[in-house]
Amino acid sequence: GKTETLLEVNNIEVIYNHVILVLKGVSLTVPKGGITALLGGNGAGKTTTLKAISNLLQAERGEVTKGSIIYRGDHVADLNPADLVRRGVIQVMEGRHCFEHLTVEENLLTGAYTRSKAETKEGLEMVYTYFPRLKERRTSQAGYTSGGEQQMCAIGRALMARPETILLDEPSMGLAPQLVEEIFTIVKNLNEQEGVSFLIAEQNTNVALRFAHQGYILESGRVVMEGPAAELRENPDVKEFYLGMG
Ligand code: ATP
Repeated sequence: GKTETLLEVNNIEVIYNHVILVLKGVSLTVPKGGITALLGGNGAGKTTTLKAISNLLQAERGEVTKGSIIYRGDHVADLNPADLVRRGVIQVMEGRHCFEHLTVEENLLTGAYTRSKAETKEGLEMVYTYFPRLKERRTSQAGYTSGGEQQMCAIGRALMARPETILLDEPSMGLAPQLVEEIFTIVKNLNEQEGVSFLIAEQNTNVALRFAHQGYILESGRVVMEGPAAELRENPDVKEFYLGMG
């Protein structure tokens, strides 16, 4: 059958501080049940795109000045992040953002503020099934866990809201290759077994295109290439400039 579109970003422009034009008309779609990669180098506009979707630009003095953002047919550009979570969309910010002084489990529980007690209990079990490391570390203070465990904790915390779509910003950042592999494998399992859809901003093109179904490549605030991940992996320009195979 036809794939259902969850998220539709149409030709958005983002300006910081009223003058700095950073996104120059970005369009992308996130299909239900897919993993979509948003690729590009440092400063290409990946984080800005995710923040535009979750309405997190205000704190950065940024604003969407053109275009539209639609989730399940509704305009969502004016919803605050908490309302978006209730609609099923949650962002995991770059840099992990766990509460360092709380335990791993307390961190996970902070993600369940929209859920009932029974749902929270069920959510914890689900998170621990996918992240056995978090279960082992559940009573540890998050600030003393490894970078990989903190990234897992941030994803686990988002999962506690039972999102339909997760916007994941640079999950590989600062992690050893083996851990990056482990985290992307868990993402794939969540996608296949729980039906969670992902939009993943990544500089690590290689790993992202191995796990994603489709991808978009941003350069200086514009989408310069898009398509199924398997096609992008075989594209000569992608090979040369993004996969280091030139
Ligand atoms: P990175 O992987 O480094 O986060 P990115 O692709 O996510 O890169 P963005 O963080 O979206 O890129 O940044 C895009 C551009 O916007 C960069 O040139 C950056 O300097 C600029 N920018 C980001 N935040 C602000 C801000 N608050 N004020 C002004 N310019 C900003």
